[in-house]
Amino acid sequence: MEYIKSRVRDVYDFPAKGVVFKDLTTVFKDPRALHIIGWDLSQLYRDKGVTKVVGIESRGFIGGSILAFELGAGFVPARKPGKLPADTIRMEYAKEYGTDVIEIHRDAIGPDDIVVLHDDVLATGGTMAAAYKLVKSLNPKKIYINFIIELSALGGRAALPEDAEVSSLIVY
Ligand code: AMP
Repeated sequence: MEYIKSRVRDVYDFPAKGVVFKDLTTVFKDPRALHIIGWDLSQLYRDKGVTKVVGIESRGFIGGSILAFELGAGFVPARKPGKLPADTIRMEYAKEYGTDVIEIHRDAIGPDDIVVLHDDVLATGGTMAAAYKLVKSLNPKKIYINFIIELSALGGRAALPEDAEVSSLIVY
C-alpha cells in the first residue's frame, strides 16, 4: 500500500481553490501500481460471488474495469445524464452547488446479481449514495461499496447507507 500511496499525486486548488485533489493518473500509469491496485481490490471480494462491478463516471471506470476483470465479473457503467444509449433509470442528488444526476441502464442489473459499486475517491459521499440508491432500486441480492481512496476528514461514510459494507484501500 505504501507503494501506491507514493504514486498518488496531490494537486492543490483543483478543480477549485482550497481543494486538494487526489490524482490517481500517476498510480494508473505506473505498471506496478496498476497491478497492485487490481490485486488488492480483488482480494477484498474474492469469495463473495460478485457478478457485476458498477463503475462511476469517469474515474471509477478504470479501477472498476480492472476489479471486474480480476473477479471474472461483468462491468456496468453508471454515467452522467444523456450518455447511455438505451433505456435508463436515474437518480438526482444534491451537490455543494445545485444538483447532479446519475444514470444506469435499466437492464444492467437484476435480482440475481451481487454487485460491487466502485469509485476512485470517497469525498462527501453524495455521488456514491445516489449510485447506491439507483442500483438498490434494481433489487440485486447484495451491494458492496468500494473506493481506492477515502478522504475521512470529509465524512463521506456518514452519507452512505448504514447497512452497506464499505471498503477503501487507502484512508487519509
Ligand atoms: P463526492 O463528494 O464523494 O460525491 O465525490 C464526487 C466525485 O468527485 C468522486 O467521484 C471523486 O472521484 C471526486 N472527488 C471529490 N473530491 C475529490 C478529491 N479531493 N480528490 C479526488 N477526487 C475527488
